[in-house]
Amino acid sequence: MWCQSWGVSVPAVVLRPGKQRSLQRRHPWVFSGAVSRVDGDPAPGDTVEVVADDGDLLGLGAYSPASAIRVRMWTFAGGRGAHPSSGAGRGPVDATFVAERVRAAAARREGLLASGTDAARLVFSEADGVPGVVADRYGDTVVCQLTTAGAERWRDVVADALAGLPGVRVVFERSDGDARAREGLEPRTGTLRGGDPDPGLVVHEGVRPGSGEPWRWHVDVAGGHKTGFYLDQRNARAVIARLAAGRRFLNVFSYTGAFSAVAAGSGATSVLSIDSSAPALAAALRNAELNGVDPGEHLEADAFTALRGLRDRARQYDLIALDPPKLAANERQLDKASRAYKDLNLLAIKLLAPGGILLTFSCSGAMGADLFQKVVAGAALDAGRTVRIVDRLAQPSDHPVPLAFPEAEYLKGLVLEAD
Ligand code: SAH
Repeated sequence: MWCQSWGVSVPAVVLRPGKQRSLQRRHPWVFSGAVSRVDGDPAPGDTVEVVADDGDLLGLGAYSPASAIRVRMWTFAGGRGAHPSSGAGRGPVDATFVAERVRAAAARREGLLASGTDAARLVFSEADGVPGVVADRYGDTVVCQLTTAGAERWRDVVADALAGLPGVRVVFERSDGDARAREGLEPRTGTLRGGDPDPGLVVHEGVRPGSGEPWRWHVDVAGGHKTGFYLDQRNARAVIARLAAGRRFLNVFSYTGAFSAVAAGSGATSVLSIDSSAPALAAALRNAELNGVDPGEHLEADAFTALRGLRDRARQYDLIALDPPKLAANERQLDKASRAYKDLNLLAIKLLAPGGILLTFSCSGAMGADLFQKVVAGAALDAGRTVRIVDRLAQPSDHPVPLAFPEAEYLKGLVLEAD
């Protein structure tokens, strides 16, 4: 089929019988195995019509010939509104459309950005109807990742839309994760709009207990993990601020020490930060200094080895944070990752003093909340401790999860109290 919509020829991706169902439920991915044929000759990132085998138009998406996710949907045909932010069932997908999606996503964060922080995720890919585009705001600087062929196709439009947001001075690109390789794209980093990012960039968050002052975090836009900072752990930082007073705090996988500084500034009696990265620990010293708190002890080590060492020395902690990197990149790695999560949690639970609290996280999207809880339950059993869930944590509101796209959910945390 070679459709003639809006006076221009739009290539079409025709699905195999039955493969339209997930799109009818507004799930935004078309896997390569669902495609029966491609009519026309779309280039990577071009907009294609996605059509059921009976000829029904299902919507418009961005074509990714190199990826297992062959099309990422921009709009869905039929029903009420194509996307919460668009209101239109059918394109065209043009510069105005893409820029409007980006601006609408940013507008949804205005409330958050007006309530005590100048750092928030502005655009969260499919969750905001802009597949492949992540954009994080740090004060006057926006750091974006363009991870798909569709995002790459609209890079200038996205960059202009972000640069046009009020108060934005620099738009910097950090498209250097693994995702681009799966789309056949080279890594790219550097300034997209404005000048160089400020190497001393500091963001502000919340209010410290007992003072009107915010927490201050240095963000290394060019060299830090992801876009420079773990925005997604904002809620956990607030929980640690509430729990830390009078407690000995162990921060495992401490990165740039945000949890450590929050605990130290909220009355923890001691803080030990463990990370295998020397630059991360150096950055943690800087964050402690920025907040005028004691940096505590730092241990540059593999967390598994370090936890065993602490166990062998019978050390005890009243509050532990366990926030490992993504241990399962996909479902095939789940068994191995489950064993690693169990080992870590077992070691951490053993280090809890009576009445101690463990904040334990998994940021592996492939590991669901149920499985994570089961793995942690197994660890508690092996540790011989009675452990209760007293709170649950998840990615915050600027990392939303569409009901039609549960894959957006990746971060889950349990706040556990041991007898
Ligand atoms: N909780 C942190 C984010 C942790 S990111 C925050 O809120 O900022 C995960 C961290 O784990 C990274 O800093 C990485 O350097 C560290 N890491 C990865 N593998 C490790 C290992 N085997 N042992 C210790 N640290 C490790």
